Amino acid sequence: MRKIAFGYSTRCNVRCEHCVAEDEISDPGKMDFNRAKQIIVEMGRAGVGGISFSAGEPFLYLDEISELVSLCRQLNIYTRIVTNSFWAKTPKASETLVLKLKENGLCQLRLSYSKWHQKNINKNNVLNAAHSCQSAGLDYFISFVTDFSVADDPHEQFLRDHNLKFFPEPVIYAGRAAAFTPRKILTDYQANCCEMNPYLTPDLDMYACCDAGSHFSKTGFFYLGNLNENTMEQLFRKTETLPLYGLIRTMGITNIASFTGMKARKIITHSKCELCRKLFNSPETLARLRADLPQLAAWCR
Ligand code: SF4
Ligand code: SF4
Repeated sequence: MRKIAFGYSTRCNVRCEHCVAEDEISDPGKMDFNRAKQIIVEMGRAGVGGISFSAGEPFLYLDEISELVSLCRQLNIYTRIVTNSFWAKTPKASETLVLKLKENGLCQLRLSYSKWHQKNINKNNVLNAAHSCQSAGLDYFISFVTDFSVADDPHEQFLRDHNLKFFPEPVIYAGRAAAFTPRKILTDYQANCCEMNPYLTPDLDMYACCDAGSHFSKTGFFYLGNLNENTMEQLFRKTETLPLYGLIRTMGITNIASFTGMKARKIITHSKCELCRKLFNSPETLARLRADLPQLAAWCR
């Protein structure tokens, strides 16, 4: 099923130090509302079955996002909103809003949570939002962004104490978090295959990967094109047919790294996205991978 992260606006009401946003953006982008509706209809025709409203804070444009969610429901598109829960200050306020979204056809809320988010947003807001979802029968999960340090333990414990549904999500060292010192890790030697969901920005640029993909500034490896010059179908086809993207999905980033000669003991010191950046944000490595594509596709260790 085709899925996409829909960046209606990059505007946010807080400024987390780990955010993948580049830095203080003086004029955050926002999509034209009528154009957004057209794009969603076009997505429906192109067979998109799931849209995640993400980027900045979607609830800053609640009425517009609600209408876009309704439109998705008419088109039979699954919807998710990613939010920092700033709006869930009280159980009552939270319940009213969640019920409205559920009536509009929202399928899932994803609540962002971390030691960084919670410097700006009271963690009880996340609790209120999760409880409202539970009582309204709306699917939710908490995206617990972590660098797996001891400092994260009390934050994880809070989620456990309240029996909330959460998934740990490794912080991505891009944007503001690029200033962090990446944690020293040793992972298992695992394939690191990546599903790669595309991301559409408010300026209608589309990237093949919704996470760190728009930050591969040296190569622009994940950039697909702009919707003003391409159809939705053309951009989706590109992400589905480009051989290196296909190998990221099927062969996995670890095997590609091994093909380049990177030693196993080095490979296991990187998280998936860091490894991806090492390979595909390096003009030299990328040129070599493109030139050696037949050998890479046939390669096994
Ligand atoms: S991480 Fe989320 S909540 Fe924090 S500044 Fe970025 S978009 Fe806003
Ligand atoms: S591994 Fe690469 S393709 Fe996958 S989410 Fe990370 S940056 Fe994107």
